[in-house]
Amino acid sequence: MMIEDRSYSKDAVQGLSILGSTGSIGTQTLDVVRLFRGRFRVHALTAGSNVDLLAAQAEEFQPQCVVIADAEAALTLQRRLEGLNIEVLTGQAGLCTAATLPDVHTVVAAMVGFAGLESVLAALRAKKKVALANKETLVVAGALVGRVLDEHGGVVIPVDSEHSAIFQCLVGESRTEIERLVLTASGGPFRSRDASTFGSITRGEALEHPNWSMGAKITIDSATMMNKGLEVVEAHWLFGIDVDRISVLVHPQSIVHSMVSFTDGSTKAQLGIPDMKVPIQYALSYPDRWPAPNPRLDWTEIRRLDFEQPDIEKFPCLSLAYDALHAGGSAPAVLNAANEAAVSLFLNGRIRFTDIPFLIGAALESKAVGAAETLEDLIVIDEQTRAFVVEHTRVGAI
Ligand code: NAD
Ligand code: MG
Repeated sequence: MMIEDRSYSKDAVQGLSILGSTGSIGTQTLDVVRLFRGRFRVHALTAGSNVDLLAAQAEEFQPQCVVIADAEAALTLQRRLEGLNIEVLTGQAGLCTAATLPDVHTVVAAMVGFAGLESVLAALRAKKKVALANKETLVVAGALVGRVLDEHGGVVIPVDSEHSAIFQCLVGESRTEIERLVLTASGGPFRSRDASTFGSITRGEALEHPNWSMGAKITIDSATMMNKGLEVVEAHWLFGIDVDRISVLVHPQSIVHSMVSFTDGSTKAQLGIPDMKVPIQYALSYPDRWPAPNPRLDWTEIRRLDFEQPDIEKFPCLSLAYDALHAGGSAPAVLNAANEAAVSLFLNGRIRFTDIPFLIGAALESKAVGAAETLEDLIVIDEQTRAFVVEHTRVGAI
């Protein structure tokens, strides 16, 4: 799926559109931009509803346009930015405009969830380089994204730390010589917790990730290990490796970010202190590396690196993701929509932690695998699945 990025000269200023600039990845992307001011020009910033932060970012970076999903928030934002010559847009149309501005070379796709898909497709159709954090895009629409890349010739560079690790391990290698991808997983906050107590896990406990500070949705995904399931699907589409050659290995220290085994028996890994600024920067600097003051591994302090097999009885979301990828067609889109809906219900205190895999399993069973070829197909599947999950919860099936 990825193509060598030779489309801008090393001395050129990289025009950026940052979709989801107020989130965890978005704000860390802007930290990278602050480190290398001369290398970037920010043309677009977008957010869901955080007017205050988006306005502050717009004042600092002076983009051509800002996009806010919430139409009411757009009016407040407009007033805040009066006199600054920054266009305020809203909705998916606004996001697609932000993703396709002529001066934009790189779109950082840092929105969360299905909502990020349409603007990524628009960016690729406009031949942009997409620095992709939004893994849900590939889970839902991996085949469609692949077709758009073939037809239009954009570029996708992974930001997700595991996929960035694999991408870095593959520099200079031939894809035909890959034997296996090994995605490492921290195991989340409940790796050692007794599964019989999972029904009483609170929102607060699930939001406490041991190694990474991230947005709420991905933090819950890490606690259920659905995050790793989504990442298996993401790796399948990014690197063109079939699912049976992608393994998950629990590594609680999150120092080894992932590995690639080759046909000659050699394995390459990429290591580092957990810090998303490293893979974000690499997606922007690739094929170069730029000197940065990120924390270094200290081998006098690291005494051990542990690895163990994931417990799929305890974390059924992981096998649901493998099942959906095996089933193909609409199944991964159903998996993703059911997960987004269930995580949102859990965050709102409506369901228990253990209901999340239950609802996703029920959604997958309720729907025969069908076609999922176009954005329109996917929007229908997404809406129907979310409605199924909410209805299933409402009628007290759980
Ligand atoms: P986040 O919740 O912190 O930020 C999400 C951003 O998207 C915010 O700017 C928010 O305003 C915007 N947004 C949310 N819903 C929107 C909508 N409906 N319309 C328009 N904008 C909307 O999330 P995050 O942790 O930064 O994660 C972003 C993506 O990156 C996710 O797909 C996640 O899986 C992936 N990712 C995150 C990390 C991490 O460390 N945070 C690591 C790897 C991958
Ligand atoms: Mg990851």
